[in-house]
Amino acid sequence: MGEYLAVDVGGTKIAIGLGTDTGQLLETAILKTPAEKAPQDVLDQIADQALAMVHRHGVALEAVGVGSPGPLDGPVLLKTSNLSHWEGLNWETGLNTRLHVPVYVENDATAAAVGEWMFGAGKGTRDLVYVTISTGIGAGFVVNGRVMSGFRGNAGEFGHLVLDPAGPWCPAGHYGCVESYASGSALTREGRRHQKESPYLDGKESVDAKTVLQGWMRDDPVCGQIVDAATERLGRGLSYLIDLMNPERIIVGGGVGVNAPERYLTMIESYARQYALPAMMAVVQFRRAQLGEQSGVMGALAVAINRQHNPNSLGHAKES
Ligand SMILES: [Zn+2]
Repeated sequence: MGEYLAVDVGGTKIAIGLGTDTGQLLETAILKTPAEKAPQDVLDQIADQALAMVHRHGVALEAVGVGSPGPLDGPVLLKTSNLSHWEGLNWETGLNTRLHVPVYVENDATAAAVGEWMFGAGKGTRDLVYVTISTGIGAGFVVNGRVMSGFRGNAGEFGHLVLDPAGPWCPAGHYGCVESYASGSALTREGRRHQKESPYLDGKESVDAKTVLQGWMRDDPVCGQIVDAATERLGRGLSYLIDLMNPERIIVGGGVGVNAPERYLTMIESYARQYALPAMMAVVQFRRAQLGEQSGVMGALAVAINRQHNPNSLGHAKES
């Protein structure tokens, strides 16, 4: 049996990994995202790296998994602001014609959820919600032991649930979504706005989400208020998911989610508890993501393995 190729596509870098069906990475490589290049050149670059890897290890390729930024139309990238040259890029046909094995595509948050489910903090569960908190906020779901991709692969835009239409503006085109209150960008924005009032932040050369979290841990009252407001909104948003989906586990990942102190997780959980139904809250476990830096590439690997082994788990709907 052959090995699996994982392609984790990000706005600044593309991680490519060759791995086994038990989730062991044999090799990984990082490409700088060629955002100015045309789709055919991007696909050529990825395929060249992949073929060199396969050759070096003397293995056969079984399938490819891709974790792609959205929005997607199945395996096709739609127009995005930071990868506008790639509009219409078809990961499935593009990589299949170059590598000659099945190619499976999920949006990046869904892929990370599958990675945690198979190889990380979600192992052994059947119903999980994965939430990524970094610059933005997203989610991925496993429901009844199957990956929930949505009709065209875009399920899980948890960050853009609007909590208050009078809230902060969001570039997605609305106001007051979860992301506008609780993302790393929101922590940075609030930290900068209140820098002068904060004994910890005042005089700092640069303020970002990390600085705000540090100030909070040192009992700075302003940072405390910022983090409290953000975790309240996040906990409230999660209470909607908990009530809708009755998950067994909530896995918190992403740059902020993974690096924030333990207290941050406790606060999100206690705010979710204020709003979610007690029967749902009684059974859900909050866990931190385990795959860390590897979450993208392990997610893409898991997508390839899961879909290859479970032909009924189709992900997004196929054209008929
Ligand atoms: Zn939004």
